[in-house]
This record gives sequence, structure tokens and C-alpha cells, in this order.
Amino acid sequence: MKKVVIVGAGIAGLAAGIYARQSGFEVTIYEMHSIPGGNSTSWKRKGYFFEGAMYWLTGSGKDQPLYEEWCNLGALSDEVPVHNRDPFYTYMDGGENVCLYRDLDRLEKHFLSISPSDKKAIQVLCQDIRKFTKMSMPIMDLKGVKVKEQHKMPISMLFKMLPMLPRIPALSKMSAREYAEGFQHPGIREILKTVVGSDYNAMSLMFTLATLAAGDGGYPEGGSLSMAHRMAKHYEDLGGEIEYNKRVQKVLVKKGRAVGVEISDEEILADAVVVTIDTLSAIDHLFDQPLHEPWMEKMRTNTKPVMNTFVCLGIEADLSDLPENMLFTFDPPFFYAGEQVNSLSVNNYATYKGYAPKGCTSATMGLMGDTYDYWKNAKTKGTYEQDKKQLAETIIERLAAKLPQIKDKVAVWDVATPLTYERYCGTYKGSWMTVVGKGDKPSIYPSTSEKIANLYFAGQRLQPPGGLPVAVVTGRTAIQYLCRDTNTVFQGSPPL
Ligand SMILES: Cc1cc2nc3c(=O)[nH]c(=O)nc-3n(C[C@H](O)[C@H](O)[C@H](O)COP(=O)(O)OP(=O)(O)OC[C@H]3O[C@@H](n4cnc5c(N)ncnc54)[C@H](O)[C@@H]3O)c2cc1C
Repeated sequence: MKKVVIVGAGIAGLAAGIYARQSGFEVTIYEMHSIPGGNSTSWKRKGYFFEGAMYWLTGSGKDQPLYEEWCNLGALSDEVPVHNRDPFYTYMDGGENVCLYRDLDRLEKHFLSISPSDKKAIQVLCQDIRKFTKMSMPIMDLKGVKVKEQHKMPISMLFKMLPMLPRIPALSKMSAREYAEGFQHPGIREILKTVVGSDYNAMSLMFTLATLAAGDGGYPEGGSLSMAHRMAKHYEDLGGEIEYNKRVQKVLVKKGRAVGVEISDEEILADAVVVTIDTLSAIDHLFDQPLHEPWMEKMRTNTKPVMNTFVCLGIEADLSDLPENMLFTFDPPFFYAGEQVNSLSVNNYATYKGYAPKGCTSATMGLMGDTYDYWKNAKTKGTYEQDKKQLAETIIERLAAKLPQIKDKVAVWDVATPLTYERYCGTYKGSWMTVVGKGDKPSIYPSTSEKIANLYFAGQRLQPPGGLPVAVVTGRTAIQYLCRDTNTVFQGSPPL
């Protein structure tokens, strides 16, 4: 049996580990952290549980092709309840709340009732979303790989995609911000800018709105870390090994072949190495010399990293009568880490069992923006902790002006900056996805190296915009390459 080493037990590493084990390889995953999941994580502070990642999971809808993969990986099953937040966002500033309902008829009626002057734009929006709901992320096999069960893009899906094709060029050339500016109502504008982020292109916005409208994009009970633990257990039940607290220093390459990894000056030999840490960091730091191949140069040049400063609050007040996501605007805006904050989307977990002590609420918010250099400087200057405190205090004060019931009730706060993500996951600038902006042509990067044999890559960075589905799909593709190279039958689901 061939021995495979996987670097990283994030979602891509766990998926790759499961597929490799199922296909008959001897597999060990080395993870530098003490837990699985990588960016897909959650944590506890003084009785409050903070969901640190997943807002929505593409493929959590049972009729999606990806659902079967999530089940094969142990991430989802009939026993894991999936919560479909609805309304997905609620804009709460001034007058009537503006709700992003999942049901398109309801959404159209609601938007028309609050903003009749946007009639034309609302109708086009809803028509577009309807067209995009026919699209789902396909699971396909690598050309030339032997597989136990074949996966191809069904012809029916190609036909279903036809109506949306004419809209793709226009939506790709426009940012979500520009698309949102086509609406007069401030609440509708703000929601459309927030769904994926205003710098993404309008096509990414439409795909996401369609995911929600199709009844997909739910939140599995227990959240990110529980899901990672379920996958890790499934992998270990299949006979895979995970070694935690083991940071891989480098991939060993001899005579143009990956032959293992080095950990604490010890050489661990293997027949193949699958690198699932952020590819952008790996190609610069995980080898004797940085790797330079055409696709790697393209990735270095083209990547627009997504990063955030994440703020969590433990509130001694029951906010269960409020929406699960509240979108507020601030006039005047406030400032942190060199960024101006005009609006904030607050995740309210008051109705989630076990997320806070009785009668209390766990709330989180991500402030998007590249603040990496600011926080790095703050660390050097010694103001890092003070700046984090100031940000938390500003947010608490500004939110209390919107929600008087939380005034003087915040018992716990926590702030994670891009440096936190960098420290825990080793990602490039602490980034966890990639922006697909106006006019961008997202590349699908290879899972292999042209110069080093037996080396495979997987992870969010390989297919912008990244995220959890991409982690799984790239983990699967990496193992299909490995199977093809070793003339092994790829096995996507557990052997019976
Ligand atoms: C706030 C936030 C919200 C998000 N929301 C969503 C969402 O709603 N939907 C969605 O799909 N995605 C979301 N994401 C993105 C998603 O979580 C990530 O894209 C995904 O988890 C990336 O998985 P990965 O396995 O590719 O990489 P990673 O999570 O980076 O995993 C890499 C692993 O490798 C380990 N590692 C790194 N270096 C080494 C080394 N040298 N040796 C050993 N181990 C190493 C790390 O510790 C980590 O465990 C969100 C992320 C965040 C942070």
C-alpha cells in the first residue's frame, strides 16, 4: 500500500484524507494546530460559543450534487439538522425592516412594497436569481482516472444553464456595488452590497442569491468545528491517522520527486505528499526554495485575498426576538485599522441552543478589508491589544445606540485580526478566500506541479472564490490525480 502524507487538517486536508483512505492508500495528516478544521472553526469564551466561520454551506440542500459528497465525507447526514436562515439578512435602519427572503415570490412582493420606484430593477433582479437557481456546483471526474462511481456534468444541467448565459458577460463586468447602486432604496442597496461583499462581481452576487433561493446554503447544527470533527472522525474510522501539533517545516524533494516531509528536523518519508495549506503560502515557504511555475506566478499576481477582522460579543440579554442577521448603517461612520465602517452585519445566535448561557446571546460580525499591514504595525509598535480593545469598545457603543437593550450588557468580547488567522492557519496575510471582482476571469489552478512528481495541491486558493465547497472539490481532484498517477481506482464513497 502506498504511503501518503497530507499537510493540514483543514476541510481540504480532511476531504483529501478520506478520499485517499477510501481509495486504499495509507494516510497520515500532519496538522500544526491541536484541532481539525483550520479556518472552519468555532470557539468558546466564558460560556459563550462563537461561530468563527461558516455563514452558509453550499451543498447543504439535499437536492444538490454536493450534498452527497458532504455525506460521503461524514460532514452531513440525515442526523445533522441544517438550519436555513430566513430572512438571510434584515436591514434594520429607519422605518420598515428590509428582508432578504429566500422565497423569490415573497422577496419580490416585499421589495416592491417597500420601494415601488425600484420596480424595474427588482423585477430584473428576481428574474436573474430565478435563472441562476438552475445552476449547481457540479462534481466531475478527472479525465483518464479510473473511478468506482462516475461523476459527469449531466447534459440536463447544461440545458438548464442556457437561460442564464446571456446575463453572464454583463454581470461579470459589474461589481456588486455597482449593481446595488442601480436601486434607489438604501436598504435594498445595502443588502445587495453585503451578501458577498461589494468588491465581488455581480455574477458572484447572483450565484449566492440563487443558492439561497434554491433552499441551499444552510448552517449545519453545531457549526464549523463540529463539522470538522465529524469529518476527522470519519477519516479516523476509515483507518486514517492525524498527528496534531505537528508543523510541517518543509516538503522533502529529491531528484524532482516529493519524498516526504520534515517535522522538527525529523524526515518522514512517503510515496506522495498532498499540500492542503494555503497554496500561496506553501509555494513560498514550504520548500527549500520558493516554487516558480507559470500557474504559481499567475496565482501570486492575480490573487485578491479576502480577509476580515472578526468581532464576537457575549451579551447578557436575550435577543431572540430580533432577526438572526441584522444589518445596520452608521452615519457618521466609524474607523478602525485605517478602514472606514459605514455598515455592519451582525449575526445573532440568540435562538441557537447552547451558544450562550440562558437568557444571553452570542453575536459575531466580520469587518471586511485588508488590514493586515495595520495590525502588523500595531504589533511592532506594541499597540495591538489596545487597538483591538478600542475596536471592540467602539462597536459595543455603536451597536448599543441601535439596540438599547444591549447597553452595559456585553460581558465578553473577542477580536480576531488577520494576524490571528495567519497564526492559527498559516494562510497568506490571514486570508481565507479570494475576491472574484469586476472583470476578473477566475483561474482554476492545477493540483500538480510541472517540476516535482508525487506532489499534489488542494485547498481554497486553487479555485477562486474558494470556501468550503472548493476545499472539498480540490481535495477530491488532488486524490484523483494521485489515483491516475498510481493506476489506482478512485473511490469517492466508503467501501461497502
Ligand atoms: C469568518 C469566516 C467566514 C467564512 N464563511 C464561509 C462560508 O459561509 N461559507 C464557506 O463556504 N466558506 C466560508 N469561509 C471560508 C472557509 O472557512 C475556508 O475557505 C475553508 O475553511 C478553507 O479550507 P482549507 O482546508 O482550504 O484551508 P485551511 O482552513 O487554511 O486549512 C489548512 C490547514 O493546514 C494547517 N497548516 C497550515 N500550515 C501548516 C503546516 N506547515 N504544517 C501543518 N499544518 C499546517 C492549518 O492549521 C489548517 O488547519 C469562511 C471563513 C472565515 C474565516
